[in-house]
Amino acid sequence: MMTGLFSTAAARESGTPRRRKPAADRSEIAAIRLDVEKLFMITEAFWIILKDRHGYTDEQLGDMIREIDLRSGSLDGRRLKQPNPDCPKCGRTLISRHSVCLYCGSVVARDPFEG
Ligand SMILES: [Zn+2]
Repeated sequence: MMTGLFSTAAARESGTPRRRKPAADRSEIAAIRLDVEKLFMITEAFWIILKDRHGYTDEQLGDMIREIDLRSGSLDGRRLKQPNPDCPKCGRTLISRHSVCLYCGSVVARDPFEG
């Protein structure tokens, strides 16, 4: 049986995990890089507005970034991952960032920064 980066019908039927083609991965990585670049620009635009119109300083921004970083217990550039909350209606744990409970269908307001 052929194994490796490319799946075959025989491999899929035998339960071998299906892998994406490297070209698809590169294209997805390129799209993610563009998204990250766009988010940097949006963040910078917000920061310039906050500085110019509301007087916040770069030091205040740096302090807040360090405070958020330290919530995880160490200054490691990573945010604290909160466990998924429970559905207020049925009590089951909500899945990922879904705003609809997959068990009972309730629409649940989620913290946009959780996860
Ligand atoms: Zn529910």
